[in-house]
Amino acid sequence: MADVYNWHLGRKMTYVFPEAHPQKQFVAIFNINRCIGCQTCTGACKATWTFSKGQEYMWWNNVETKPYGGYPQHWDIKILQMLDQAHQAAGVKAVWDTTQKSDTTPYGVYNGMTITEAGGADQQALGYIPPDTEWRAPLFYEDTATAYQGDDLGISKEGASLPEHQTWFFYLQRICNHCTYPACAAACPRKAIYKRPEDGIVLIDQARCRGYRKCVEQCPYKKSMYRGTTRTSEKCVACYPRVEGKDPLSDGVPMETRCMAVCPGKIRLNGLVDISADGSWAENPQHPLYYLIKVEKVALPLYPQFGTEPNVYYIPPRWAPRPYLHQMFGPGVDDAISRYTAPSRQLLAVLQLFRTTQKMLFRFEIEEGPLVFESEVNGQPWQMYNDTVIGFDAKNREAVRLSVVEPIHERPAERMNSI
Ligand code: SF4
Ligand code: SF4
Repeated sequence: MADVYNWHLGRKMTYVFPEAHPQKQFVAIFNINRCIGCQTCTGACKATWTFSKGQEYMWWNNVETKPYGGYPQHWDIKILQMLDQAHQAAGVKAVWDTTQKSDTTPYGVYNGMTITEAGGADQQALGYIPPDTEWRAPLFYEDTATAYQGDDLGISKEGASLPEHQTWFFYLQRICNHCTYPACAAACPRKAIYKRPEDGIVLIDQARCRGYRKCVEQCPYKKSMYRGTTRTSEKCVACYPRVEGKDPLSDGVPMETRCMAVCPGKIRLNGLVDISADGSWAENPQHPLYYLIKVEKVALPLYPQFGTEPNVYYIPPRWAPRPYLHQMFGPGVDDAISRYTAPSRQLLAVLQLFRTTQKMLFRFEIEEGPLVFESEVNGQPWQMYNDTVIGFDAKNREAVRLSVVEPIHERPAERMNSI
């Protein structure tokens, strides 16, 4: 075991391999507040990658309804319970020390054990292989909310109001996190799983894989899946031909993955961030992903306490109970929600960039516009400006230009009945 630095946890942790970092890292942000649960992303991924025999149950992208849904069923409850039991057995409390928050440790320091540290001498990390029944179908408990506290008909007398609703659910969008410290790679006895040095995408070498399913067992997010027809494991490949700029549509520059590019809810933003030799993100506040994750800190990692340093980030939902969100996204939740609820002038402009072009954006600029709206948010004055945000592709060419206020297009009178 080696000591490696995990910036999500604000400390060093143990991992099977010594630190080695890619030049760039594949990163995505999902804005939970905007997801409509349409599953277009799920269908786009399936139609692209997992439509063959033996892949019937493979949903590399899935969208599950929290708190009850999950694919495979109960994946997060199960691993959280295992982690909790390990802490109890060791007499360790899993707490975040938020007094140590800083620019380099944005969520403070995690004093509990990761899945690797809790694995003990017998196994590299805590984990389990879900039985077939739990993989059988996605979307169990879809759109199921927590219990009503209303009358006999189940209608709430309280109504709903922010910040937290009494009755709630939200959609959790899930793909492989292309983790900095992938548990799947650590687990593989054949060393068939590798992280690409050019973009940090985690892939399974199908020629080396012998289907031992150790990756299925030890990925805490359950995003490595076994295929009976080939006796190998498969997982999300981050649409790497698109990331490499090889898609015929791409004009030679990196493009977002299929699941990102089809999203009608415009909840997804995907790109590549520069990684320094020591593994930290190279400072670049004009990069939309760097800006949202590192500067505004509105997007947070999923279950950072697992310790794999996942590279998919979430803007947490405003209406769900905070203890549930703290468990899922760590101690950055309250700050992220308050910044998202009353966004700064720049943040509001950058949020417009989600799902507006299939090209990955590497830089943004903002042209200031007039004040168009004033209000109060949480007792504080808040202003909205009709600024224009411009996104640039990998060749530093303008790829997209949008204003904060969506333009209204009126259908001309002669086309009123043209459908
Ligand atoms: S999410 Fe799971 S399958 Fe994906 S890189 Fe991380 S550990 Fe591996
Ligand atoms: S396509 Fe977008 S809005 Fe629809 S379920 Fe997927 S993430 Fe949500």
